[in-house]
Amino acid sequence: MAGALIGSAVGDALGAPFEFGPPGAFSARFPTPARGVATEMCGGGSLGWEPGEFTDDTQMALLLAQSLVERDGLDEVDVFARFRRWAEADPPDIGVQTRQVLGSGLPWDVAAAEHFAAGNRAAGNGSLMRTTPAAIRFARQGRAVTMDAARRISALTHGDPAAGEGCAIVHEVLRVLLEGGDADEAVAGALAHVAAEHRARWARVCAPSWTPVEATESNGAVWPTLGSALWALRHSTTFEQCLRLVVDLGGDTDTVACVTGALAGARAGITGIPIRWTSVVHGRVPGFDGRWELPDLHLLAARLDGNRRARPYEPPASQDIDAAEIAPGIWAADLDGARRSDRDVAVISLCRTGGRFGHDVQRFAYLVDDDSNPEIATVLADVLDDIAALRADGKQVLVHCHGGASRTGLVLRAWLVRTEGLTAAQATARVGARWPHLGLWNHTFTTALEEFQRRTR
Ligand SMILES: [Mg+2]
Repeated sequence: MAGALIGSAVGDALGAPFEFGPPGAFSARFPTPARGVATEMCGGGSLGWEPGEFTDDTQMALLLAQSLVERDGLDEVDVFARFRRWAEADPPDIGVQTRQVLGSGLPWDVAAAEHFAAGNRAAGNGSLMRTTPAAIRFARQGRAVTMDAARRISALTHGDPAAGEGCAIVHEVLRVLLEGGDADEAVAGALAHVAAEHRARWARVCAPSWTPVEATESNGAVWPTLGSALWALRHSTTFEQCLRLVVDLGGDTDTVACVTGALAGARAGITGIPIRWTSVVHGRVPGFDGRWELPDLHLLAARLDGNRRARPYEPPASQDIDAAEIAPGIWAADLDGARRSDRDVAVISLCRTGGRFGHDVQRFAYLVDDDSNPEIATVLADVLDDIAALRADGKQVLVHCHGGASRTGLVLRAWLVRTEGLTAAQATARVGARWPHLGLWNHTFTTALEEFQRRTR
């Protein structure tokens, strides 16, 4: 669930600087992965986004999400009121159609319909871009319920039922992906339940053979937005590849990447999204208080998934162990030791911290100190590649978890295997000699380290 929600916000922020740009701009600027201090989350664009800042796509999704949580279901009056309050706050980035409908002064159940009936184009991708929260909220209630919710939410701003049918397809595909199913099978299943008069046009852009060059509208329209997202999903295996493909299409890059990020994030799970992207995603919702960061999105995803007991996390105090240098430029600490480390140091956090410490570079990886890390090899590779890039940029790198023992020890040991060619046993002995806090109780970590050694050496 977190993968879909955070994946969509990551896509939005990743695409925003490239909005309305030409094809190929992303790969021209970032021919290879940018894992050092400066990443692909570059900010800028015509609206001057901060690196990692999400746009109206995620702003509207968060409004919808909070309504779904607070109203415990779909309350269209409440959603529309939140949308209108947001629009009245004059957000920097708002779709033409959405602004006209929300600014019309008409009530929730007629504003979009009258806009469409007046002959306006109403099949933009502005309702498709905010589908993720409701797709998560209604996933467990099955296909019919989730597709119906999609249409009703779309209709609040988009009077053209074609947009609603696209949202219904996304809801169904996300439902299936979140269950671990196959996207193309989900598309076929969804198309069978698309309104008959819209089915042929949707079937064309959702076909496995379709490519973005066949688009008959700009990708600000709803059909090529979803078609491009599904195309990128089919032509990639990882979240990173998928988003790279889709941002490189140019045009309405934030929205196309937002939709794609939800699908790719649902497929990959949160551990499959590069930490250099998730760690910096943030933003505000005009008209509403507060700044959104990664832990807030995690909490929201849990609540959307029905976890009513989910609360903001504040970690208990740790022993407050001073940082120590374990290998050249590589430091270890526990939570509180890391928290008070020099702000110039790049911090790799392997536990929940409750928020950022205030360092220029702080990245958050997903390791749990038990045997429930199915993607441990992926996470380890992502962390080590980032550490290498940060070192190449001249950064001192500090690795920590809550106690500084087990998760920290795994990463330090793997770093020595990778950079000094040590065996797992040699790396364990070396770290143990320099870091007496090393904890070796997690046998799945040692197994992962031995596997890492086999692949590395
Ligand atoms: Mg946007």
